[in-house]
This record gives sequence, structure tokens and C-alpha cells, in this order.
Amino acid sequence: MTDYMNPSPELHARVALEKYGFRNTHSLGQNFLLDEGLLERLLELCGVRDTDNVLEIGPGAGVMTALMSLRCRRVLAVEVDRGLERVLGDVLAGRENARVVFADAMKADVAALTGEAFGDEPWRVVANLPYYITADIVLRLVTARRLPDSVAVMVQKEAAERIMSHHGQKQWCALAATVQSYGQPRVLADVPPDAFDPPPHVQSQFIVIERHPEPVVTPRDPQIYLRLINAAFAMRRKTLANNLKAAFGLDNDDARVVLRAAGVDERVRGEALTLQELCRVADGLVAYRREEGTGNREQE
Ligand code: SAM
Repeated sequence: MTDYMNPSPELHARVALEKYGFRNTHSLGQNFLLDEGLLERLLELCGVRDTDNVLEIGPGAGVMTALMSLRCRRVLAVEVDRGLERVLGDVLAGRENARVVFADAMKADVAALTGEAFGDEPWRVVANLPYYITADIVLRLVTARRLPDSVAVMVQKEAAERIMSHHGQKQWCALAATVQSYGQPRVLADVPPDAFDPPPHVQSQFIVIERHPEPVVTPRDPQIYLRLINAAFAMRRKTLANNLKAAFGLDNDDARVVLRAAGVDERVRGEALTLQELCRVADGLVAYRREEGTGNREQE
């Protein structure tokens, strides 16, 4: 039975959205999840606990934010749309452990924000992401200066399939290689369009990426490794050697030397390489650049 004196977050949000005449902005990916039953199940599936510090990207009307504030230690939510300020103010009123920062998550300094909110304590991400920036946001999170313990996010099914793909598969891409260097992704639930308000035109999956307890690759220079991943998939029809030439300014012979030293076939395409092979090539590039004295020149 609904207790109207103490409304549930879902009822609170529905009333506040109506009261302030909020209209969803399609271009901000505002497909809200308001159903408390579903949200509780998603939080169960990703195993949030009372010791967790959670970063949420895009709280929307704040139903999930409010539910997490009941289950977790602290919630920091980053929302770009100031039009949601009064709605979130109502829904999160009195929830001392939930804080909203109005900022663009693509520009915000995630390490600084989480450091300020959670100190040195570990943190994790739980979010129903805006789909127009899924890949960029996920990449920012899994390569942040202070890494989260896990990233549980609602994404478009196609994005989930790409993140989950393996080397040698058609979908294997820079996003998958970068994510899997950080952690192990798995699907927690399929979520149909009619669970959202308004329904998106795509199927969705709730996935979690758990950070590897021990790193699966330990590149000598993580920045070069990430650049190499991007270069490897930049022009898929080209060989890795050609992509290396374009991205790192190597000539034919240099590219061959680096690949040979990494134990990789000179004619290989980037998408055929495992994480460990990509790491060996990146380390080879670091060694080569040192020998050539090009270490810092390129970035200047
Ligand atoms: N978490 C809410 C829910 O489940 O109902 C809302 C999810 S909705 C799919 C995505 C949210 O992300 C919206 O509130 C939108 O305004 C917000 N958003 C979009 N772009 C953003 C950005 N660049 N930075 C932060 N939030 C953003």
C-alpha cells in the first residue's frame, strides 16, 4: 500500500516531474527508469552494499539515486541538465549521503570529484547511462587516474556486445580492448524498451565490468598502450604496421622492427591481436622511441 505521507522515491519522482512540468530531452538520452521494483532488482544484481561509495552518471529524476542512498554509504551523482535541479531537490531532500553535482560528465575531472566526495576510499560506478556517449563515458571511467572497483551500467545491447567481444571476432574493437584491460565485463540483465520512460528504440542490457584483481597487462607506458589500442583499430582494413606508421610516425622498416621484436607477424591486422600482444607491441614502441630519442618530442 502506498504511504502518501512518506512517498516512495518512484512516487516522489513522478509527482515532482509533473509538478515542475519537466519535459525529457531526447538529445540528452533522457530515457528514465522510474520503476522501483526493477531498479531494486538491478541494484541486487550488481550487489551494492552499505559500505559502497557510488558514482552515478546522469541521475535523471533520481529514483535510483534515492534507492542507492538507502543501500550505500555515499552517492555522488553527476547530472548535466539543470532543468532537473528542482526535481532532484525534491526527490533527494533529507538524504544526507546523496549529493548531486551539475556538470558534464564528459568534461568533469572524475578523479578529482570522487576524491573530494569519497576521500581515499574505494568507489564504484552504477548508472543508467545516456546512450549517445556510452563508449566515451565508459572509456573515461576505466582509464581514470583513480580507478573504480567496478562499473555497472545500463547500455544499448549493441554496445554491450562490443564490450563483451574477443580478439578475432568482428566486434573486437578499441572499446573492448580498453575495457578488458581494466576488468572483466558480464551481462547482468536484459531490459526491454518498455521499462523506460519514454521507451528507447533499442534493446538494453545492464552490465557490470569488475576490475581485475591482478592486472592482465602491465604496459611500461599506459598512455602509449592506450594510444596503440586506438591506432590498432583506427583503419581496420590496414595492417597494424601501416596503422603504426600513421599513428606513431614510424617508417616501414621501423614498424617491422617493432612488430618483430614483439613476436608479432608483420602483416597482422590490429584486430587479430590479444591484449598481451598489444601490450608487447606497446612496450616495443616505448623501447624503440627511447633508442631513437623520440620519447617526448611527439607530444610536444
Ligand atoms: N538515472 C536516470 C534513470 O535511470 O531514470 C536517468 C537516466 S537517463 C538514460 C540519462 C541521464 O544522463 C539523463 O538524466 C541525462 O540528463 C544525463 N546526461 C546526459 N548527458 C550527460 C552528461 N554529459 N553528463 C552528465 N549527465 C548526462
